[in-house]
Amino acid sequence: MSLVVQKYGGSSVADADSIKRVARRIVDTRKAGNQVCVVVSAMGDTTDELHDLAAAVSPAPPQRELDMLLTAGERISAALVSMAIANLGHSARSYTGSQAGVITDDVHGKARIIDITPGRVREALDAGHIVIVAGFQGVSQSTKEITTLGRGASDTTAVALAAALGADVCEIYTDVDGVFTADPRIVPTARKINRISNEEMQEMAASGAKILMLRCVEYARRFDMPIHVRSSFSHHEGTWVTDKKLEGEAVEDPIIAGVAHDRSEAKITVVGVKDKPGIAAEIFTEIAQAQINIDMIVQNVSALETGLTDVSFTLPKADAQRAVETLQAAKERIGFDQLQFDDQVGKLSLIGSGMRSHPGVSATLFRALAEQGINIEMISTSEIRVSVVTADDQLDDAVRAVHTAFGLDSSEGEAVVYGGSGR
Ligand code: ADP
Ligand code: ASP
Ligand code: MG
Repeated sequence: MSLVVQKYGGSSVADADSIKRVARRIVDTRKAGNQVCVVVSAMGDTTDELHDLAAAVSPAPPQRELDMLLTAGERISAALVSMAIANLGHSARSYTGSQAGVITDDVHGKARIIDITPGRVREALDAGHIVIVAGFQGVSQSTKEITTLGRGASDTTAVALAAALGADVCEIYTDVDGVFTADPRIVPTARKINRISNEEMQEMAASGAKILMLRCVEYARRFDMPIHVRSSFSHHEGTWVTDKKLEGEAVEDPIIAGVAHDRSEAKITVVGVKDKPGIAAEIFTEIAQAQINIDMIVQNVSALETGLTDVSFTLPKADAQRAVETLQAAKERIGFDQLQFDDQVGKLSLIGSGMRSHPGVSATLFRALAEQGINIEMISTSEIRVSVVTADDQLDDAVRAVHTAFGLDSSEGEAVVYGGSGR
């Protein structure tokens, strides 16, 4: 008997009818002769609503209590899915992350999984039950407190459990038919990708394609766990995230895998710093000591008359306020005129492992943006990625232009988005 791990995202369990539909799907998988372990997200936009509720009672809720609150969302859907399965005449058991043996470090809000001890899950499966695990949560090994694993992390729970249980595949059910060449909410002509390599999927996720959480892809890559991303609203074959070629797949990989976009970052410019050794070190040591991760950095050539230059960098919007305060406090020591802050920016990334051996990719990208009159504020590249920062209100147009310029548009009609608010 094979073991299947399935994960259902928020839009797949958004209301009672959706939960009943998902329950039927799970039961069908069981009836086909599989052991089934299911990971669920909170219903619809519950996690956002719980965040809003917390903000309404406190501007800075204690992290411990926030995790207690947020984990309730996944518990609700786990219990309801289990009830719906029982109603179909099959036995199911729901578990919290802690009960399922998801052991984490002690960082509230973005804990890392350090171990999975799925003894209870294994026993329940062997006793013939369908197991439902509340995603996105665990328990800290050191503090014994309940933790959450970061936004979108039910994906990670699913892959981690699949690896720990030795499942054959981890199926991620969501509101689109798989991983597309761009977010179908922005590019209706985006094409479904049949297979994407771990490396490219990791770069897409790191660049903001929220179809899979980055940690989940890293985990799958480390444990060599194939992921099948597909819709819970259709029975279409989805996207395989794996390095193994599919049957009948072309020998040659496409140059470009897709275009990702990200609206979660802000830009800070330190204006009027001395162009001399050690200044960048000063700035970014301050930022690092505040535990803030930065993404892109650009330093301009200094003006001849003044010898002064500007340094810009991007960072998560959520950390921007803290970064500004940290740098202001060190103004004398670093020596700068002023700070500029811009949270109306977006980042576009073009990803493809074929870039390594194909010159001219950046040139085509820049030309596509220029033809639309879109100004590029920052640029960064890696071996398999080119990213640019643009004004937020030009980002969608930029994504569509680049998608078309690289011949990624589908000729088979528009991509379907089955549900979800895109929040
Ligand atoms: P779930 O609640 O099932 O986890 P998410 O909202 O986290 O779903 O992720 C699915 C969404 O990811 C899609 O509805 C789509 O808007 C978005 N998305 C972003 N980039 C892509 C992409 N390249 N391919 C498919 N979907 C994408
Ligand atoms: N409910 C959590 C979130 O919205 C986790 C998840 O859906 O994966 O981020
Ligand atoms: Mg998600």
